[in-house]
Amino acid sequence: MTEKRRRKDEVRAGKDVKRVKSMVSASKKAMDNCGLCLRDKATGWHRVFSVAPESYLVVPRNPLAHGHCLIVPFDHEGSSTELAEEVFDELQKYRQSLAKMFFEKEQKEVVFFETASESRSNRHMAIHCIPLSRKDASAAPGYFKQALLTEGPEWSQHKKLLESNGRSIRSMIPKGFPYFNVEFGLAFGYAHVIEDAESFNGRLGFEVIEGLLDLSPRPPSRKPDHEVESQMANQLRSVYKDFDWVQA
Ligand SMILES: [Zn+2]
Repeated sequence: MTEKRRRKDEVRAGKDVKRVKSMVSASKKAMDNCGLCLRDKATGWHRVFSVAPESYLVVPRNPLAHGHCLIVPFDHEGSSTELAEEVFDELQKYRQSLAKMFFEKEQKEVVFFETASESRSNRHMAIHCIPLSRKDASAAPGYFKQALLTEGPEWSQHKKLLESNGRSIRSMIPKGFPYFNVEFGLAFGYAHVIEDAESFNGRLGFEVIEGLLDLSPRPPSRKPDHEVESQMANQLRSVYKDFDWVQA
């Protein structure tokens, strides 16, 4: 190896180490500031109402509707397609038990949505679970389809909507691709690969639900009320305990 080549390699290795270090420090920073990384933190637990080995259920900071909750893996992972099989299985069990609970206790149907956007790759993934009256639930697929088709051209070359028909997101979208996924109950949903994450509207799921329920958009920075959040979690815990697959 010539001296020149050796030096070049050293410089490249140094750059690689620097790049990896900066990636590690960016992801550490994201985890330190992450509201969903609860394992090693004292905060946020008052909103949790079920805990499994690898995942948990939590009331979000700004619920869109009564019963709105999140299914979250404990590890800081970006999307359902990147999870280990056993973690994904836990999320599926949570989906099934929540759908059953809302149907049996409140005669409601559930919409689940997840945004896995590349530009937010340091984000901790969450599946939003929103219980809806039967009337709203029957209108929901049309609202989401319309939103995905009309939003589509701004962030996607193709308008192609994938229909899940019972398939899981992992069998529809390859690992590493950003996507938006919505499921109506357990049998049917739409998934869409996000081709231009920069221009993708990260609030799409929220905006569709706000439109469907005729809600005025709420400022996301509303000051959290510890008392109210605890009450909501306690309420859900007391109903969910009979459906909790972890306790079964
Ligand atoms: Zn996190």
